Amino acid sequence: MNTIFDKILNKEIPADIVYENQYALAFKDINPQAPVHILVIPKTRCKTLSELSLIDDDSQLGYLQGLAATISLLGLTSGYRVVFNAGTHGQQTVDYLHAHILGERQLKWPPG
Ligand code: 5GP
Repeated sequence: MNTIFDKILNKEIPADIVYENQYALAFKDINPQAPVHILVIPKTRCKTLSELSLIDDDSQLGYLQGLAATISLLGLTSGYRVVFNAGTHGQQTVDYLHAHILGERQLKWPPG
């Protein structure tokens, strides 16, 4: 499957990249839901967080390190939220694993 995130990863379409390591790519969401809204994807494709264990250990660890490094560099001192939407109930719209990092506004709980 060739999703929009495959195309961003392959530089077929542009994205505003904020962080990259060997295993992860972080870029701004095109339709931000908070003043800071960043997506972090693994460079080794998988579909959901529950499928992350199917890729090799270095790719799993490198992705999670990339996610943590992205959060760190954003400097969200008042807090933030990380969301992984998955499947139909999770309202996932792009079938390529991605973490949403949301920050710089007061978020509510429970989510809708
Ligand atoms: P999901 O609903 O699957 O959890 O999140 C997909 C996210 O991808 C949405 O927040 C949407 O705004 C974002 N998105 C969709 N297409 C593009 C695109 O072409 N570029 C960027 N940067 N984000 C996109």
